Amino acid sequence: MKKTLLGVRALMSVPKDNPDLVKAQYIALSRQLPMMYFILLINTLMLAGTHFTVAPRWLVVYCPMIMTLFGLVRGVEWIRTRRRVRSPAQMVMALKRTNTLAPFVAVAFTAWSLALFPYGDSYTQAHVAFYMAITVIGCIFCMMHLLPAALATTAVVNTAFVVFFASTSIITFIATALDVLLVSIAMLVILKAQYTDFTRLVNMQAQTARLSEENLQLANLDSLTGLANRRQFFSRLDTLLPHAGEQDTRLAVGLIDLDGFKPVNDLYGHSVGDRLLYQVGQRLTEMLDQGVHLSRLGGDEFGLIITQALDDEQLRAFGEKLCTRMREPFVLVDIPIQISASLGIATFPDQASSATQAYEYADYALYQSKRHRPGTACLFSAAHRQQLNRQGLTEQALRRADLDREFHMVFQPIVDVRSERTVAFEALARWESPELGNVPPSDFIPIAERIGMVNRLTLPLLTKALDTAASWPAGMRLSFNLSTHDCGSEEAAQQIVELIKSSRFDPTCLDLEITETAAIQDLPQAQRAISRLRELGCGISLDDFGTGYSSLSQIHALSLTKLKVDRSFVTGIQLNPASLKIVKSLIALCQDMQLECIVEGVETAAELSTLKTLGCTWAQGYLFSKPMRPNAIGAWLEAEQLARVQAI
Ligand code: C2E
Ligand code: CA
Ligand code: CA
Repeated sequence: MKKTLLGVRALMSVPKDNPDLVKAQYIALSRQLPMMYFILLINTLMLAGTHFTVAPRWLVVYCPMIMTLFGLVRGVEWIRTRRRVRSPAQMVMALKRTNTLAPFVAVAFTAWSLALFPYGDSYTQAHVAFYMAITVIGCIFCMMHLLPAALATTAVVNTAFVVFFASTSIITFIATALDVLLVSIAMLVILKAQYTDFTRLVNMQAQTARLSEENLQLANLDSLTGLANRRQFFSRLDTLLPHAGEQDTRLAVGLIDLDGFKPVNDLYGHSVGDRLLYQVGQRLTEMLDQGVHLSRLGGDEFGLIITQALDDEQLRAFGEKLCTRMREPFVLVDIPIQISASLGIATFPDQASSATQAYEYADYALYQSKRHRPGTACLFSAAHRQQLNRQGLTEQALRRADLDREFHMVFQPIVDVRSERTVAFEALARWESPELGNVPPSDFIPIAERIGMVNRLTLPLLTKALDTAASWPAGMRLSFNLSTHDCGSEEAAQQIVELIKSSRFDPTCLDLEITETAAIQDLPQAQRAISRLRELGCGISLDDFGTGYSSLSQIHALSLTKLKVDRSFVTGIQLNPASLKIVKSLIALCQDMQLECIVEGVETAAELSTLKTLGCTWAQGYLFSKPMRPNAIGAWLEAEQLARVQAI
């Protein structure tokens, strides 16, 4: 009962707490009420007209005049609402006013029409009845979206009609009264149903709009950090960039990549990794100004859009501040974790000229900082653009290159420093491009890796190296560099295995060099590839050791046979106690793990003698020889033999 009463109350009042419904009602009424007043006035004037000669002047002239004036004012008022923007409160007021006015208007018009009834003949009386019955139906339809007004009008007019005409004792009018009574009941039922449907529809529309707004929010947010996501980053960039172009202001795009995040994730698990990312997001948010938009682009990569990028110096200072702040330890529960962040920044419009370019340039600057000075900021410069252009040219030439004709291998001896004998040669690729001239491998290998061409390159290179090595004296070893992608897929590894199997060179004299990054990127896959190569009897050397992030446990998991100590520890080792310590411990580590240790990049006799005191056995470097053409190898070995004979 209480519920029904509440329901009736809800139907009979303006829904103040539902602004969407108020608005929908208001819009519907602003369309329909002018029409209602038009019908009402025309019908009224016609009724006054049919009674003009028979009824008193005040009834057929003055009353209709007042009613017309009132109707015109209200009608025009509603027409004008269509062109104005109203606040929700104003709309509620307008609806309430209509609700209040409706019964009074109904009483006035009913009283006036009934007052005309006694005048004239049966025709004019029938006109009164018809006027009331039909006009009220028209009005109710027009007020359908404002239930209280519609119901009040029905109640007033139809009650008066039924009571009045039923009491006339004229059978036609009594029948009409009955008709109108039935129609009124039907109309009430339909009105209520219509209004309920209307309310439901409006509510549903509002809910759909809210949901799609929520979805839009979700689609643009990163759920882990609560920051804007990659999608929003790019859509923001797409809107902010043209804006900066129009305003003639400088905008910068920054890309942040965390250094050392992966080991944290591997060591402490994903939940700690996730918490760390969250804290990184918080820390960055705290330190950024209003004009800098932060997003998480995915993984451990964050993006910045700096809308007030002033000059290069300020950007560099900003970058350094950010990187310094990121080096401070993060406290996760009770484990303080130290990582760092590398940042690449590119500016618009002086460097980049589009959103895509700004992103690409920032990415390039990030790559430079990661490669050369991890944990620092790098600003994309004109020199970088030249490098990029050159890389573009190299990429084009590489795609077109005739791999068999343009590439060849050179070989650098690896020497046993105790016996001063060459024990192996490392094969190194050389590219003589007809368009670009000699391109060093440090340029073309990373590009070949990036464009997914390196497997196609490895096979002809390995074929050439194995062909050359097949003619070497028995027992002479060959070292061949594999790229990250060569171990990264089952198919690529399989092709390499097949090639080695079908070659004339003894696989037990072949060493394949892999880098830490290659091994760690996909450890299980690297393990699989390595074990297939080991089954053939090949050795596996870990190249450039000491420059990556690998841990001892990971190295242990790889079933290596050799370790190559990177040149950076060797240069000037006799003068550098830190390098000395590192190389000493690396040599000790190799002995412990029963791995052969090769020290790379020996350039001076002083370096070699220091290395000898540390127990170094195998070494490689310009001191012994630069890489040589295959046809020079015979002479090299003969000279070595000769020197030994002379020494005896
Ligand atoms: P890496 O494997 O560390 O090769 C050693 C590099 O150091 C070679 O440069 C070699 O010429 C150079 N080098 C040797 N001794 C000395 C020295 O005493 N001083 C100095 N300053 N440098 C020395 P290169 O031939 O330019 O090769 C560069 C890198 O390119 C290689 O580094 C290797 O990572 C990659 N690479 C070369 N050939 C191939 C290949 O066939 N396949 C793949 N995947 N990578 C290759
Ligand atoms: Ca190598
Ligand atoms: Ca190396």
